[in-house]
Amino acid sequence: MKAIQVSQPGDVSVLEFIDTAKPQIKPGMLLVKNKYSGVNYIDTYFRSGLYPTPMPTFLGREASGVIEEVGEGISEFSVGDRVAFLTPNNSYAEYSLVSPASMIKLLDSIDFETGAACLLQGLTALTMVKRSYQVKKGDIILVHAAAGGTGRLLVQLCKHYGATVIATVSTEEKAKIALSLGADHVIFYNTENVAERVGALTGGQMVNAVFDGVGKNTFMASFDSLRRCGTLVSFGNASGKVPPIEINMLSKGNIVLLRPMLSHYIATREEFTEATTALLDLISHNALNINVCKVFDLKDAALAHEFLEGRNTTGKVLLKIE
Ligand code: NDP
Repeated sequence: MKAIQVSQPGDVSVLEFIDTAKPQIKPGMLLVKNKYSGVNYIDTYFRSGLYPTPMPTFLGREASGVIEEVGEGISEFSVGDRVAFLTPNNSYAEYSLVSPASMIKLLDSIDFETGAACLLQGLTALTMVKRSYQVKKGDIILVHAAAGGTGRLLVQLCKHYGATVIATVSTEEKAKIALSLGADHVIFYNTENVAERVGALTGGQMVNAVFDGVGKNTFMASFDSLRRCGTLVSFGNASGKVPPIEINMLSKGNIVLLRPMLSHYIATREEFTEATTALLDLISHNALNINVCKVFDLKDAALAHEFLEGRNTTGKVLLKIE
């Protein structure tokens, strides 16, 4: 089968389009013929070495497709089922061997593109607003990179749960997108002082919580934008890793600081099922719009990574497998 492999960490040039053996079915596992793979920022971290992993490695943590073989001991899935799944680094490929623990059957109303686009970013946004900081009516929330893949889902969910949303973006086009999703205010964080603008917009109240997937470049602005007892959810490194912090800084306003990973919120089958059921319910009731902004061919994974790292995303990036 065709797949993308990385033999040494580096820039996009290390993404190799190779011929490799199709995975063999194993007891308790499913073999899926993939249609689309999601492209996520975390894939760039494994490629670059920011998140170290043994090499060579395949890439890709989510996809949609059709079950081709069912391993011994599995009864809840059958050959021919249309599915979407999360998986550790093997979805940039024609076939993936996947555990049923992180797989869903796709409703007829959900196409393969949406299936591959919704799980990782959708579950991240949903678990962040439910479990990292429970967003509630009347809250004021700051969402960074609000027009990006995960950011635009966070904006929609914060609005859905009744919050006022202050969105940060880098361009006018992205500002329009954030506003169209329901954001109440926009800050251009490359040129404006975020905490000062938050102060002006909130009459000095500041925000209850910040969802920050940008990392290094926004951490201090996020911290300075919080009110007393506010929550900083630092969930990513798009601009680089946040440097070590002095823990006593949190006592400034009894700040709650989290650095969550989706995987720890959906570690059990029960948690995964509860979160995916809630996510699909929001999508099917049009409370959450999944927007695929660009589709590349599998062989062009390097272009997809360039697109993502070049700050071009206004939704989900996919790789088309066949
Ligand atoms: P996005 O589509 O949001 O792309 C990243 C965005 O970050 C860019 O479009 C850009 O928006 C903004 N950005 C700001 N500074 C930089 C920079 N120096 N370089 C590149 N981008 C920058 O990506 P994803 O939705 O895939 O991921 C967003 C974040 O969420 C990532 O940090 C990712 O790791 C994290 N994440 C974390 C998870 C977890 O479990 N903890 C799970 C899923 C995602 P703009 O142009 O407006 O500045």
